[in-house]
Amino acid sequence: MTRDEALRWGLGDTRRVPGPDMPAEVLALVTERMGGRYCPDCQAVGLVTPQDVPLEVDHVQPVAKGGDNHHLNLRWACRSHNRGRGARPVPRDPSAPAWARRKPT
Ligand SMILES: [Zn+2]
Repeated sequence: MTRDEALRWGLGDTRRVPGPDMPAEVLALVTERMGGRYCPDCQAVGLVTPQDVPLEVDHVQPVAKGGDNHHLNLRWACRSHNRGRGARPVPRDPSAPAWARRKPT
């Protein structure tokens, strides 16, 4: 896939495409825009997502609410913030993810 194809990929496509099925070139655009692969909701509450918490592709505007698969509607988020949000919009004031609320063992 060329960069031009990646820039157009997913535009207006509101089918649910799992992150692993998205082209690597499109995911690279998301990483490039964010300046890295991290969870912005974790960062907003002063946390660094641990290595063992997988990052997932998150739709800023959820597919269930008409969001598409275009790279500008995608971002990285930790599983906890991605799954915990469901089809709700990206929170302005995210709370700590489940893994950060776990009691130390
Ligand atoms: Zn997070």
